[in-house]
Amino acid sequence: MPFSENVMMLAAEAEAALAQNFAAIDRMAYENTCRVMEAFKEERVSDACFAGTTGYGYDDRGREVLDRVWARVFDTEAALVRHNFVNGTHALSTALFGLLRPNDTLLAVTGKPYDTLDGVIGIDGANGDGSLADFGVKYDAIEMRDGTIDNDAVCQRVREDESVRVVFIQRSKGYQNRRTLTPEEITATYNAVHAVRDNVYVVVDNCYGEFTCTAEPKADLLVGSLIKNPGGGMALTGGYLAGSERAVTLASYRLTTVGTGGEVGATLGQNRNMFLGLFYAPHTTAAALKTAHLAAYVFEKMGFLAEPKWSESRADIIQTVVTHSADTLCAFCRGIQAGSPVDAYVEPQPWAMPGYSDEVIMAAGAFVQGASVELSADGPIRPPYTVFFQGGLTYESGKYGVLTAADYVSKMN
Ligand SMILES: *Cc1c(COP(=O)(O)O)cnc(C)c1O
Repeated sequence: MPFSENVMMLAAEAEAALAQNFAAIDRMAYENTCRVMEAFKEERVSDACFAGTTGYGYDDRGREVLDRVWARVFDTEAALVRHNFVNGTHALSTALFGLLRPNDTLLAVTGKPYDTLDGVIGIDGANGDGSLADFGVKYDAIEMRDGTIDNDAVCQRVREDESVRVVFIQRSKGYQNRRTLTPEEITATYNAVHAVRDNVYVVVDNCYGEFTCTAEPKADLLVGSLIKNPGGGMALTGGYLAGSERAVTLASYRLTTVGTGGEVGATLGQNRNMFLGLFYAPHTTAAALKTAHLAAYVFEKMGFLAEPKWSESRADIIQTVVTHSADTLCAFCRGIQAGSPVDAYVEPQPWAMPGYSDEVIMAAGAFVQGASVELSADGPIRPPYTVFFQGGLTYESGKYGVLTAADYVSKMN
């Protein structure tokens, strides 16, 4: 028995208490898997799709079929799924540069977007680095109200300000202290905005949200990373855009060139991983959700504040635990690391990460560097010492990681 008796008892108690939640997650994963299977069949996924092209990558059957499969699964007109997106930020940047023109306004309606977009937008103004601000694109943000999007304020702004071209929604809480939005809430904002004016693009940062519900939000462009949920732990790198034909085309012109868009780009043998990843994604995301529920239960019973609460249903895979001390935060992350399949022998240390004002501790023992659909945890060393964690490729390995963390924390004193 690898864990202390107390931790084993908590785990058994958690699984009994969570039986209904886990059953609901299984039903959802089944529904999402059906959607994926049907899309594979409709678009005739076959062995020939897995062969990669080189050079220009003309007539890459796998690339074309993957885009169409993705569009079906995400219920959009079109999609662009590429290993060439180096991360989610790159996919988001490509989307914004593709849609926005000088004197347009980017209106963020879930507060300030994810930190890595600061430089892309030019949050601090034009500085000559080639940000959106340097090209004369204006930026403004509307804060959320009562935990959701302030649709009245958003619609009023869109009505009164013709320059608003992109309404930007971040689905997941990211590293903020707020609720994660459900697909229904985002779709409601999409409908409200388009009822006011049609020459606006609603762009959704969908990171961490994919396959946590039975449908994705409606948007002109959904954007995400393949080393999170929709890559299923199989994609080695990449990102996606899914949305209207026009929006996807405009964004594709930024990834490659105006005119060629998504019709070129060698896939270098990566198609198979991306198909396989999409196939696994509903199941892998379900495993991450169950792992998050289990962790919330165990740590709440150990006296910590967990968000979301153990019994709450989720719209992303992020779980936070307020640890109240630097030592506990470090013990938690060291436990997650020790309970990972890769680099389990390594002991994470807090370090001064460029761009952060406080030291940060991170645990990541992943098969794909930085893949946060795999069990991973991090937190800034500052009160209230909140750890953000997510992932678990399988529930069994996620459980092993969470219980190792619980063991490390309970053995501190
Ligand atoms: C992960 C993430 C991104 C993109 O981050 P990358 O590290 O560039 O992939 C953007 N927004 C949110 C909310 C995210 O969770």
